[in-house]
Amino acid sequence: MSELLVLAHEDVKRLLPMEECIELMAEALADLARGLSWQPLRFVVRPPEDQSLMGLMPAHRSSPEPAYGLKAVCIFPGNPARGLDAHQGGVLLFDGETGELRALIDGSAVTSIRTAAVSAVATRALARPDSRLLAILGSGVQARAHLEAMSRVLSFEQARIWSRTPEHAQAFAAEAAAPLAVEAVESAEAAVRGADVVVTVTSAREPIVERGWLAPGAHVNAVGSSIPTTRELDSATIAAATLFVDRRESTVNESGEYLRAVEEEGIGPDHIRAELGEVLLGSHQGRRSADELTVFVSLGLAAEDLAAAQYLHRRARSEGAGAVVPF
Ligand code: NDP
Repeated sequence: MSELLVLAHEDVKRLLPMEECIELMAEALADLARGLSWQPLRFVVRPPEDQSLMGLMPAHRSSPEPAYGLKAVCIFPGNPARGLDAHQGGVLLFDGETGELRALIDGSAVTSIRTAAVSAVATRALARPDSRLLAILGSGVQARAHLEAMSRVLSFEQARIWSRTPEHAQAFAAEAAAPLAVEAVESAEAAVRGADVVVTVTSAREPIVERGWLAPGAHVNAVGSSIPTTRELDSATIAAATLFVDRRESTVNESGEYLRAVEEEGIGPDHIRAELGEVLLGSHQGRRSADELTVFVSLGLAAEDLAAAQYLHRRARSEGAGAVVPF
């Protein structure tokens, strides 16, 4: 009989510190660019007339240890009002030699940590190293994870927070820990103007960022939209920016930002300068000048969840953490 490791939300938060996850995601994205991971486009179950959806995200990695992974994630936008994470589900890890199920891991914790870690990798690679002012649009799970992740890779002095519901921005700013000065502001424009790095982590359906607000040389991580029908950046921003993505195939099929800019600004796939993993490998150039506007569109990849699951499995087994059940 084989053994199944079960890792709950708190286990994941303890075993996957942001700093380590950033290095893990850099490695996972580089491996994807090297062709060592493989993933199809995600499959989305979207009942008509319903706000919720289920995403199925499978991947395979051949190295350093072969494994299959599958994240099954339900997104329920009404959950925060119930005090629950909008993202629910699990990451399944399968043995790459036998296919046996090895682990079931809380998907909401993995998603929040690995997404912010990927943005940190993008920021370290693409933002100006002298960036001091951070803007975060949104005040939910991802906003909190991103504030931590951004602080790990650059020496920000100040962060401005805007959120649709002003009290949410204020609560977030109030709970944020020093040394960063964190301030809630009244509009997205007030947050974005003059910022060196902008993070968008909202469920907005239409743009909350306009091209004219972005300073020369700014870097933007556009994280909140993962489906073709939503976006946070206007098309003028996408057209004006040097565009980096987590994965080209996902971008041209799934990114609302990209697809609307194709319609409205006539850009095409050649507008994408590189996948982040290609920049990390040095096969494609990142930022070319201090006044270049760079945008990283993050859709979220199954390969990221798989890399996190492999790490968590290895670490939990060596520390005796989590629950192990016969299976
Ligand atoms: P939360 O539900 O915790 O937070 C949602 C945030 O979006 C809140 O700050 C809310 O503002 C804001 N918001 C909701 N609707 C609107 C709107 N119409 N206009 C402007 N702001 C709005 O979600 P998460 O933090 O977990 O996720 C944020 C986004 O990131 C989601 O869209 C999610 O799908 C996406 N995501 C992307 C991932 C990736 O890999 N790229 C991975 C995980 C999530 P307020 O509360 O102030 O009203």
